[in-house]
Amino acid sequence: MSILVYIEHAEGKVKKTSLEAVSFAHALAAQTGEGDVTAVALGSIEAGELAAVGSAGAAKVLHASDERLSDGVIQAHASAVAQAFEILNASTLVLAKSSLGDAVAARLAIKLKAGLVSNVVELPDTGAGYAVKRSIYTGKAFAVTSLTTEKKILAVKKNAIDLKTDGGDAVVETLDVSVADSDFASKIISTERATGDILLPEADIVVSGGRGMKGPENWGMIEDLAKTLGAATGCSKPVSDIGWRPHHEHVGQTGVKVAPSLYVAIGISGAIQHLAGVNSSKCIVVINKDPEAPFFKAADYGIVGDAFEVVPKLNEALKAE
Ligand code: FAD
Repeated sequence: MSILVYIEHAEGKVKKTSLEAVSFAHALAAQTGEGDVTAVALGSIEAGELAAVGSAGAAKVLHASDERLSDGVIQAHASAVAQAFEILNASTLVLAKSSLGDAVAARLAIKLKAGLVSNVVELPDTGAGYAVKRSIYTGKAFAVTSLTTEKKILAVKKNAIDLKTDGGDAVVETLDVSVADSDFASKIISTERATGDILLPEADIVVSGGRGMKGPENWGMIEDLAKTLGAATGCSKPVSDIGWRPHHEHVGQTGVKVAPSLYVAIGISGAIQHLAGVNSSKCIVVINKDPEAPFFKAADYGIVGDAFEVVPKLNEALKAE
């Protein structure tokens, strides 16, 4: 028995969240004694990216290069990964929790008759009962689920595990799978990036602005800081409701949930509904002129001050680094 990891990639590059899934699988295999971890990647991907998956702990990468698999067609991916799982006689599939990951995992759970837990935050207790801890209620609580099926699927939450980076190159092998034409019945015709170079749900750093920014004309300051930090931009709900920023930037309970390494909140009060979307961030920095703003209670670092003075100075200081 062994562990298989489903790799997601975009624009030819393996996603960091998938490398985290490989790191998770590597640690799990060490715990269960299941030996080497194998990854499966589908569609076209940059040369060198597959072998580099070894750095996170995969010994082997199975690659099905069928061009039609490049677009992340959910049904086709589920079919191809199920075949890889059977070929490998695997016990466990590990993947990153994401919209594609969840959609593929749900189909695989049915195909493989496997138990599935999504939003996993730490290595399971693999003893009797196989207890898996997962994040619930937008990160406000945890639940422990017992997986009793022989085959198991674990979708790992972003930032749940430290990324392993010291593995050697993985051996890359061709994976021959036969995917029915009907599994390609739905396909992505085109994709268009809404704004910026970095997608908000996947960003490692997010700079977010609230009503304290006073108006859309002041967003240059947020964008400049985001550019310096290599961050995506976000905002509070009222900001997108009044049209200062597009809706896809709205972070929170009713918007995008983010889990970056760094979340910088500028002129945002820290209402519970906003915090629900950001409380899985590794480090939160709050800039607010009101020392009583609730966001400071959730902050790792806080700056009490006027954003219009603090942000340009912070940006200059970071640029000078
Ligand atoms: P405000 O509450 O107006 O806060 C502005 C902050 O800026 C204040 O703390 C102020 O001190 C500070 N400030 C002002 N001027 C400056 C300055 N010059 N420098 C520095 N700081 C300054 N909200 C979300 O964000 N996301 C959600 O998903 C969401 N979902 C919701 C769902 C429901 C069902 C409901 C009822 C509400 C939801 N909300 C959501 C709204 C939420 O309750 C808050 O109203 C909202 O988050 C407040 O946005 P804000 O912090 O930008 O604005």
